[in-house]
Amino acid sequence: MVDEKRLQNAIKEVLFAVGADVSKDGLADTPKRAASMLAEMLEGMNYTNDEIAEMFDKTFDEDILTDSRNLVVIKNIDIFSFCEHHLALMYDMTVDIAYRPNGRVIGLSKLARIADMVSKRLQLQERITEDILYIIKKITNAEEIYVRIKGCHSCVSARGIKKKSYTVTKSKIGNIMESDLN
Ligand SMILES: [Zn+2]
Repeated sequence: MVDEKRLQNAIKEVLFAVGADVSKDGLADTPKRAASMLAEMLEGMNYTNDEIAEMFDKTFDEDILTDSRNLVVIKNIDIFSFCEHHLALMYDMTVDIAYRPNGRVIGLSKLARIADMVSKRLQLQERITEDILYIIKKITNAEEIYVRIKGCHSCVSARGIKKKSYTVTKSKIGNIMESDLN
């Protein structure tokens, strides 16, 4: 659980540690504001993957009856996250998902919500890809799922080597081809 009060104290400490003048008007409420912002941006820390699956397990009963096996592809879901190694922002990230329904479909907006929720944690891009696949599998029981994520990491673009670059991670089960996502 994100402990907002504790977060506030920690942020106050960070302000001291970086030598900020905490008596300045502009900084007076910063610990409170920043803690509240972080709590919102890390909302996914409050839930396990299984709990997220349960939360978004709203399939459409009437559609479940269709025996359509047509591939469903949703592309360019934008997300952001924080790398757990540096607490650095991972940004300009997009998620592409393809799955072949296996008797159960999932609302398209739910796919975006799942991607969003697992990203709002201290994460690794590789793990976000895995988490999304796991939750879709759990909800739909699909045997073919492909998740691809592309993103920039500020721990690479803003420090160290300082090169903006995109990292691509992919995770799949079954025979969906990369070209199906394009
Ligand atoms: Zn990092």
